[in-house]
Amino acid sequence: MADVPTVLLNNGVHMPQVGFGTSQIRDHDAAEVVGQALEVGYRSIDTAAIFGNEKGVGEALKRSGIPRHELFVTTKLWNTAHGYEPALKAFDESLRRLGLEYIDLYLVHWPAPARGEYVHTWKALEKIAADGRARAVGVSNFQIPHLRRLSEETSTVPAVNQIELHPMLVQSNLRAYHSEHGIITEAWSPLARGQAIANDEIRFMAQKYGKTPAQIILRWHLELRHVVIPKSVGRMRENLDIFDFELDEDDVHALSDLHDDTRVGPHPDNFS
Ligand code: NDP
Repeated sequence: MADVPTVLLNNGVHMPQVGFGTSQIRDHDAAEVVGQALEVGYRSIDTAAIFGNEKGVGEALKRSGIPRHELFVTTKLWNTAHGYEPALKAFDESLRRLGLEYIDLYLVHWPAPARGEYVHTWKALEKIAADGRARAVGVSNFQIPHLRRLSEETSTVPAVNQIELHPMLVQSNLRAYHSEHGIITEAWSPLARGQAIANDEIRFMAQKYGKTPAQIILRWHLELRHVVIPKSVGRMRENLDIFDFELDEDDVHALSDLHDDTRVGPHPDNFS
């Protein structure tokens, strides 16, 4: 079984660098699919209230018999739950659906700036962390101005910002901001929803290393110290088999040069 490295969050908690993404996995399939991922060796599972599968994910965790302290569970607050009291309630509901007593990482899914509430929402997450009900709290899809506002108006720096990130969207400025402020960069859609796999340069590099295109892309993320959460129903083992090789520095740069600002998801500034 793969020995997955961890990254150290700004509050001292260790987080596995590779986790299993669960978007598009329906609730009634989640117990089985996530169960397989746990069997293959994933210990970090990424879900969200909006994915509608927290119950199935919780079922998989329970059935697996894996001790709770060996698991790392992330879930996220949906846009309609912004605001202090709604955020506390949304957290309770996620916890109940997952059947857990605590969450490892609780994230604000989107800043939803048009709602004007993300600072209040963040204060609720600070309370959840202070009460020990989430081991770490963070954000997702926050842009630099959103992060700056949190740092000016609240006292906790998010442990993680989970953002769309792959060789076609390298997010250089945001990643530099994270490094300066001790925020871990976590990549969602690390394979650009599978689209990056068709890229000729990545396919060529895969041949050179004797690896698959997905493994090359995931390795690129690891070399840049990102946390990754690829989702796969059929290729979960392949996506975890990335610890027996490294990319040359030139190849890391060559992959970063593929950036062409392609987004597979919405832009955080205008999504609410
Ligand atoms: P990914 O970049 O992980 O790509 C998933 C797609 O790629 C699936 O179609 C999958 O197909 C295919 N795929 C996976 N592995 C391989 C492989 N080795 N070779 C070829 N194709 C492969 O996209 P996601 O959008 O799922 O992102 C990952 C996770 O990030 C999500 O599941 C979710 O947990 C999180 N997320 C967070 C968001 C946020 O706003 N915070 C937004 C979106 C996602 P198959 O299943 O058939 O293998």
